[in-house]
Amino acid sequence: MTAVAERPKPFVFPEYCKGCARCIGACPKDCITLGKEINPQTGLIPVVIDLTLCNGCGLCISACPEPFGLRPQGEEAAFELQDPAKLLGPRPFDVPVPEPRPNTTIPLPAREPLITKGTYAAAIGALLAGCRHVYGYPITPSTEGAELMAKVLPKLDGVFIQAVSEVATVNIMYGAGGAGQRCITFTSSPGFSLMLEGISYMIGSEVPAVFVNVMRGGPGLGNIAPEQADIKLVCRGLGHGNTHAIVLAPATPQEMLDIAMLSFELAFKYRNPVIILGDGYLGQMTGQVRLPRQMVKPGIPEWAVYGDRSHRGNLICSIDLSEADLEQHNVHLNAKYDRMRAEEQRADAYRCDDADILIVACNTPSQLAKSAIQELRGKGQKVGLFRPITLWPFPIDALLPLLPRMKRLVVVEASAGQLEDEVRLALSHAGVHAPPPISHVRRMGGILPQQREIVQHVLGLEEVH
Ligand code: SF4
Ligand code: SF4
Repeated sequence: MTAVAERPKPFVFPEYCKGCARCIGACPKDCITLGKEINPQTGLIPVVIDLTLCNGCGLCISACPEPFGLRPQGEEAAFELQDPAKLLGPRPFDVPVPEPRPNTTIPLPAREPLITKGTYAAAIGALLAGCRHVYGYPITPSTEGAELMAKVLPKLDGVFIQAVSEVATVNIMYGAGGAGQRCITFTSSPGFSLMLEGISYMIGSEVPAVFVNVMRGGPGLGNIAPEQADIKLVCRGLGHGNTHAIVLAPATPQEMLDIAMLSFELAFKYRNPVIILGDGYLGQMTGQVRLPRQMVKPGIPEWAVYGDRSHRGNLICSIDLSEADLEQHNVHLNAKYDRMRAEEQRADAYRCDDADILIVACNTPSQLAKSAIQELRGKGQKVGLFRPITLWPFPIDALLPLLPRMKRLVVVEASAGQLEDEVRLALSHAGVHAPPPISHVRRMGGILPQQREIVQHVLGLEEVH
């Protein structure tokens, strides 16, 4: 009598099992049951097999839609597929083992200042910071920055892609930033809203990138005139989770360039997105812009998922299924936010030495406030300007020493109080529970606070006194 070879029984490979349960329905012996434990590598719950009654019929293997979900015992070697080195062998191309590639700088000749608009200045700043990857979806009033990049980058071995949407844009940036590349996008308020989920992913997986949000009137599609009503969004609402990013608020085309260069430095220093928050007027405003005397040739950071041997083992991912691990990751991120708070506050003070009324304003409204201050000084008013350059972290350390002399604070802004909320929150966190009385000059809907309105408001304060 010929012996019948025993048919191989199955085993489940948890990393490939999607938990679809088709094998459970296929098994005539009820050997397979739903699992109870999440596989930490996939986030899914693989099935469990008890082979006591198994006759090796193979129906479960046939039913499994995953090529490696269920396999006959004896094929364990196939699992070496997990290891790219065993699967692919040595790299077929002759890549030199890369040297560490830190950033270097290249000196630039002195040249005459440019007269250019804010969006162009930010684009030039990004190029000088070594950015060669620009992705975006056009939206007024930010589009010119991307347009300039689209013209220039092909001549600089760079990449410009007009993505199909803002959602696509931010996810391309996720990939480019994860590869250690310096990338930037130009967008405006509604487009920025669409990018928030991806920004949360990038913050979670510590991927650097620079986002230029040239704010326009909202809510909704609003209009294309300047507003500052995204302050809440960038300071308090960067997508889901415990997210923060350094937010820089330029006030002139020169600052658009300087801050664009700085933003890349900060993004890679902290492995975190950085937001440049402009307004529609600043984006279109033309001004004198002096170029720096050096530009950056970026290296490749050690953490990058980059196509060479030394970066081969790197992984960037924003999922962390273990609650304990995710809490630790949040602790790590919050420690980073604390370092940003301690080291990256930036502010500018104008005529504050003898001031007893302090205007707080940023972006274009700060320029209008300066003009109002000059007029008020001519009328004998001791008024100064405190201009936060970082909106997050708020530069409270520079504001606190000014407070004891101040009789009043006046927040001038093109929103319904979003900057004032940041001021009040920063004061509260600093333990200043009885600050000088705070009043405001606000416009919305694409209208900036006017010099005349600021002057009238401050003179009205004096009358109240
Ligand atoms: S080989 Fe047949 S009996 Fe064994 S677990 Fe699969 S379906 Fe069930
Ligand atoms: S059929 Fe395959 S993927 Fe689906 S539960 Fe069974 S082993 Fe997992």
